[in-house]
Amino acid sequence: MNVYDSDRMSELLAPFGYEPTFVPDNADMVILNTCHIREKASEKLFSELGRLRVLKKRRASMGKRMIITVAGCVAQAAGEEIIRRIPQVDIVVGPQTYHRLPELIVRAERAVNGQILYTDFPVEPKFDHLPSARHVRGVSAFLTVQEGCDKFCTFCVVPYTRGAEYSRPVADLIIEAEGLVEKGVREIVLLGQNVNAYHGVFDDVQVSSLSKLIERLADIEGLARIRYTTSHPRDMDVALIEAHGKVPALMPSLHLPVQSGSDRILGKMNRGYSVDDYLRLVDRLRTSCPDIALSSDFIVGFPGETEVEFEATMTLVKQIGFAQAYSFKYSSRPGTPAASLGNHVDEAVKGERLLTLQALLSDQQHKFNDSMIGRRLEVLLEKPGRYPRQLVGRSPYLQPVHVVSKDDAVPPRIGELIKVEITGSCPNSLAGVLDTNVDGDGIEKENFV
Ligand code: SAH
Ligand code: SF4
Repeated sequence: MNVYDSDRMSELLAPFGYEPTFVPDNADMVILNTCHIREKASEKLFSELGRLRVLKKRRASMGKRMIITVAGCVAQAAGEEIIRRIPQVDIVVGPQTYHRLPELIVRAERAVNGQILYTDFPVEPKFDHLPSARHVRGVSAFLTVQEGCDKFCTFCVVPYTRGAEYSRPVADLIIEAEGLVEKGVREIVLLGQNVNAYHGVFDDVQVSSLSKLIERLADIEGLARIRYTTSHPRDMDVALIEAHGKVPALMPSLHLPVQSGSDRILGKMNRGYSVDDYLRLVDRLRTSCPDIALSSDFIVGFPGETEVEFEATMTLVKQIGFAQAYSFKYSSRPGTPAASLGNHVDEAVKGERLLTLQALLSDQQHKFNDSMIGRRLEVLLEKPGRYPRQLVGRSPYLQPVHVVSKDDAVPPRIGELIKVEITGSCPNSLAGVLDTNVDGDGIEKENFV
């Protein structure tokens, strides 16, 4: 979501003469778009600000200004601390107020030594003020459909930094999605902290669900693939489960964080489901879409987690078999209910548990990738590879696929959907050759440039 937000900021500032640069040294403004989810992320901000302080001084000695802006969730959660610790920061803006950046910049330019902190949760949704996407990076694009969260898991800062749940209206999303497809986008990844809690208005009166939104988007001509992330197990309704079995554009992969395999820990986390609920959900998803590739998030060492409770997580992972997963050591976040629980798990123990879990998860990922060898997968080509005649795309299951075309075949182009014979697998990707049995040159009939 921060990538999406950064792109929106860049589009918002373009009419004011700003264009992106990859080197901060000569930048008129540097925006750090931050994440607060775990402690490490916010520590990074202060070390980065230390570096920028030096650059800002250097520019000042040449009579030039560098506006330093801190945006995102650390800005929201620790704005006052940032202002106090780093006087060189000009603007601190939260994730729900960055649409006001042009006005804040004008104020910062006029201010001699003032710092601006703007981290309210305004009543007007920022999406009403943001320009629609003008630049697309490639054939796969993000589209934020929902933001914020009302679930209040006890470990998590999101409800405090992104605010209450908000869903964008269906009509706005269709317009934005059509605009992306016109610019060559073939895959849209719908984003939200709780994307499957989506409940945007539709025809001004009705409330839509994520499955209805997906069905509407699937009608857009030229849009070949739809994905969504991140889903909460509690919001996986019947219609969404069934959509995986009947909407061809909806890809057979789903990120469904479970966090823990222990009912007691899930209760303490306030997740609102049991291990059994999760297992039954996975069964229903696999009935609807038998080849669905599941990925998940895990937290090890939540306060009070015992060895037996950690083992329960290992058992759950073995029972399900994940295609991919992210796992983290519990990180205490200021202001969250879990931070004030007693019985915090020792860092070394957390570290050991993380290694044990990650070994199992990477073994499962390996096996999942190996099981693709010999299969013909549909691959959406996204970018050039490192070698001649090589392109990199993604399988329906989200695996990167390095595709080579034979010397005598017409090489396919980025944005095309092609059938690829999978010949090899690595821990994080697959290798394949263009399947020459399809339409002679391996390229499907519905080519798209
Ligand atoms: N809305 C999603 C998760 C969003 S946060 C859900 O409910 O599943 C992304 C992931 O960061 C979470 O799934 C969790 O595994 C991890 N995370 C969040 N807070 C954390 C914390 N305090 N310590 C460690 N990991 C955390
Ligand atoms: Fe955080 Fe996800 Fe829980 Fe919301 S549902 S509080 S975003 S972990």
